[in-house]
Amino acid sequence: MIVNEHKIKEQICEIGRKVYAKGFAAANDGNISVRLNDREIMCTPTMISKGSMKPEDCCKVDYEGKQLAGTRKRSSEILLHLAVYKNRPDVNAAVHCHPPYATAFAVAQQSIPKCVLPEVEVFLGEVPIAVYETPGTQKFAETIVPHLKSSNTIILANHGTVTFGPDLEKAYWNSEIIDAYCKILILAKQVGNVSYFTTQQERELLELKKRLGYDDIRFHRGENCDLCGNNTFGRGFVEPEAPACRVETKTSSNGHASGNGSGNGQPLPGGDLERLVQAITDQVMATLGAGSGPRR
Ligand SMILES: [Zn+2]
Repeated sequence: MIVNEHKIKEQICEIGRKVYAKGFAAANDGNISVRLNDREIMCTPTMISKGSMKPEDCCKVDYEGKQLAGTRKRSSEILLHLAVYKNRPDVNAAVHCHPPYATAFAVAQQSIPKCVLPEVEVFLGEVPIAVYETPGTQKFAETIVPHLKSSNTIILANHGTVTFGPDLEKAYWNSEIIDAYCKILILAKQVGNVSYFTTQQERELLELKKRLGYDDIRFHRGENCDLCGNNTFGRGFVEPEAPACRVETKTSSNGHASGNGSGNGQPLPGGDLERLVQAITDQVMATLGAGSGPRR
């Protein structure tokens, strides 16, 4: 593969500006890399804002992480990127960052549901969560290895995300897609609940994905596999925590919240949003009280 190294450095800087502008990497967080050939990788340096890098800031390393070129010290997370390249010959670029909504799932250690949005099914597929390890270590890099074959987007428990792809733009897009998805899930939960595709709807999407030339771990599983497999997400995210939490808030001793769970229509303190949340909560509580749970 013949590559123009200067062009790649410029592209790394451009993606770095996007990562920073989107709020995916505070201060000096995050790192980006591109595979140059079977001996060298271009990456971002450590201790630099991804929003203001210049091409000459980039570093070149070998497959053991040893620095080959560049005046700045290479990223401390290069081992994570190397784990990707060593296990995925089809991948040429990787982005590690801390997008807030996806990182909220990482902190909650809440699995990412499937069968909710078409684009997520087609472009991401399964999004696993790798176990926590101290960042920057070889042990940390190894946490993603079990998940590399089945995904292009991995959540790092209590840390952030790593996304990768055939080129840098696609690797970065996966960071945008997962964060937008997690944001929508959190909003949907606040509005009401998360509804899922039926098995037939999901099957059609996976057929489309196949026609578009994307691979998916679910293509390779047995006929009777559970396409959605959202049991964990359903238990942990959709219910019943939301009503329980609100009850706790209402009985808190700060004297601000009011109502006793049967206060439908009562005037409430606070702004419109608070009233809306209270109204929704009361409705959910009333539904639960009537013996028929919220729609799943
Ligand atoms: Zn990080």
